[in-house]
Amino acid sequence: MQLKDAFKKSGIGLDIISKIEDEEHKVKLQQLEEEKQRQKQEIEDCKERNRKRKEYDEFVKLVKVKSDNFMFHIICSHIPFAKAEKVFNFSKGKEKHCCFCKTEIMSFEELMNEGPEILIGSLKNVDDELKRLNYLKDKLRGRKMGVTSDETKTVICMPCYGHFLDYISNGILNENRIVKSASRKTMGEWRSSR
Ligand SMILES: [Zn+2]
Repeated sequence: MQLKDAFKKSGIGLDIISKIEDEEHKVKLQQLEEEKQRQKQEIEDCKERNRKRKEYDEFVKLVKVKSDNFMFHIICSHIPFAKAEKVFNFSKGKEKHCCFCKTEIMSFEELMNEGPEILIGSLKNVDDELKRLNYLKDKLRGRKMGVTSDETKTVICMPCYGHFLDYISNGILNENRIVKSASRKTMGEWRSSR
């Protein structure tokens, strides 16, 4: 028997019962509010997943126009992941645009030349951090930082690089012919070189 029913049976004053019911009501409202927040969060998460999915699908379209030879080369150049490095400068004939989306790449050296003090100076407060972020946004002007490796002249912008890693993982899972043969070759070479 619930506490409330026990009270009713015992003939204890209505004020106590209504107090208990008030409490129950409050708890219920709170639960409803929590449920509402949870659903809101779920919708946001779903939107975020859809956005990422869409971006990935766009990336896959860019991959589809590439030749098998190119994909084989670019995967071998970046796997294992330890081979990948930031685009430090454009020496040795490095390309200046992302090989997938063609976005212009800004090298780390260019960024440092344009104002190292704000980049390496110590951050004293949140304002400094904001200043640094705004500075970076301003300097990049639509350009993106990129990734490359010693084994290629091509560069990949950071957003494409994230999708590229997903593409390789998915390719291994789905037994994509090129991904599988490229990763088998490069991982084999890498192991025998250790
Ligand atoms: Zn890109």
